[in-house]
Amino acid sequence: MKDVIIVGGGPAGLHAAYQLASAGLDVSLFDSQKQIGERAVCSGVISIEAFSRFGLPTAPVLNSIRAVQAVSPAGHKIEHSGTVPLAHVVNKAEFNRELATRAAAAGAELCLGRFVEAVEQKKHGVTLQYHDKENREPQIAKARAVIIASGVNRSLTAKLGLVRPRDFLRAIQADIPLGRDGAARPTKIYVGQSVAPGAFGWKIPLGHGRVRVGLMTSGEPRPYFKKLLGRMAPRLRPDQYRISQKAIAQWPQGRCVTDRVMVIGEAAGHVKTTTGGGIYYGLISAEMAADVMARACRANNFSEQTLSAFENYARSTFNRELETGYFFRKMVAKLPDSLLNKTFAKAGAIDLFGRLRGNLIFDWHYKAILIAIRQLFNS
Ligand SMILES: Cc1cc2nc3c(=O)[nH]c(=O)nc-3n(C[C@H](O)[C@H](O)[C@H](O)COP(=O)(O)OP(=O)(O)OC[C@H]3O[C@@H](n4cnc5c(N)ncnc54)[C@H](O)[C@@H]3O)c2cc1C
Repeated sequence: MKDVIIVGGGPAGLHAAYQLASAGLDVSLFDSQKQIGERAVCSGVISIEAFSRFGLPTAPVLNSIRAVQAVSPAGHKIEHSGTVPLAHVVNKAEFNRELATRAAAAGAELCLGRFVEAVEQKKHGVTLQYHDKENREPQIAKARAVIIASGVNRSLTAKLGLVRPRDFLRAIQADIPLGRDGAARPTKIYVGQSVAPGAFGWKIPLGHGRVRVGLMTSGEPRPYFKKLLGRMAPRLRPDQYRISQKAIAQWPQGRCVTDRVMVIGEAAGHVKTTTGGGIYYGLISAEMAADVMARACRANNFSEQTLSAFENYARSTFNRELETGYFFRKMVAKLPDSLLNKTFAKAGAIDLFGRLRGNLIFDWHYKAILIAIRQLFNS
C-alpha cells in the first residue's frame, strides 16, 4: 500500500508529489493524461514571487512582464510597471513537465493514462477505482491517504460531498502572430461589458512576433473572443491559430478535507478571484497540504480533525483575498462601460497606480482593492 496517492498532475498535484516524496514518503500520482502537460490550457503568467519562493524552473519561460496596461472600453489607458519584471510567462505544458521531472527525481511514481473514477474511504486506508486509457477494465489502487488535485474537474469531490466552487469563469485563448507586438511591450488587460462581461480580456507579448490573446467571461466567451481578435488582428486567418477553452473555478464553498482525503489547488478553489490565476495559489496549497499530510503519515493519524490543519492554513492564507477579489470583480462587472470610462479617466488623473505603490502586489490584491475603492469613489 502506498502512503499517498495524488490524483491530478497539474502544478498543485505535481508540487505536492515533489514535497511528499522529498519528505521520504511513498507517493504515486495518477493523471488521466498520457503525457504531463497534454491538455494544459493556460496563459502561463506566474509572478516573480512564485519563482523565488518555490525555485521554479526557468527553462519554460517565454517572456517576462515588466508592465501591465489596463485599457477601458473607450481606450483610456492606465499602466503599472516595475524596475524589475513583475512576472514571467511560461509554456505551461513544458512547465508542468519540469515539475513532473522534479517530482520523479525526488522519488514520486507517475502513473499516467489513469482516470480515477472513485475514491472510497476505508478504516485502514483509501481505495481508488480507476481505469487505464488503454485497457478500460476497472482497477483498484490502495493508499493510506489521497490528495485530490483534479483541477476544475469536480467528479471526485462531488462524490465525496467536498468543496465546490461558488461560480465559474469561462476562459478562452489562442497564441497568434502579431509582428508589431515586440516582447518588450506591456501586457494589456481589456475591461468592459462590451469586451469581456464578468471579467476581462488580455494580450500578452511572447516575443518572436507572437502574442497570447484571451478573455474570461461569466457567460459564453466565443463571440467576445472573435470580436477581440478582429480588433487586434483583422487580417488573421483561422489556420494561423488554435483556440483552447476551459472553465476556471471561483471561490470555494464547503470543506476540503475529510478522513484520509485532502483537496488542493483549483479543485479546492485556490485560484485568484480577481484574475483567475491558479498556479501560485495551487503551489502554496500543495505545500501546506504536503506538510500536514507528512505529519499525518508519521503519526499514522488521518482523521478529518488532523487533516483540518491544512484547511485552517488555507483559509487564513486565501479567504480574505478570495472573498474581496470575488466581490470586487463582480462589482466592476456591473459598471456600465460609460461609468468604467469615467473611472479610468479619474484613475489616470489622480495617478491611482502611483497612490497604490507598495500595496500593488502581483498575487495579493486585498489591500490594493480597498485603497483603490477609497481613492476612486471617496475622493
Ligand atoms: C485560459 C486560461 C488561462 C489561464 N491563465 C493562467 C495564468 O496566466 N496564470 C495562472 O496562474 N493561472 C492561469 N490559469 C489557471 C490555471 O491554469 C489553473 O488554476 C491551474 O492550472 C490549476 O492547477 P491544478 O494543479 O489545481 O489543476 P490542473 O492544472 O487543472 O490539473 C488537474 C489535473 O488533474 C487531472 N485529472 C482531473 N480529474 C482526474 C481524474 N478523475 N483522474 C485522473 N486525473 C484527473 C487532469 O488531467 C489535470 O492534468 C488559466 C486558466 C485558463 C483556463
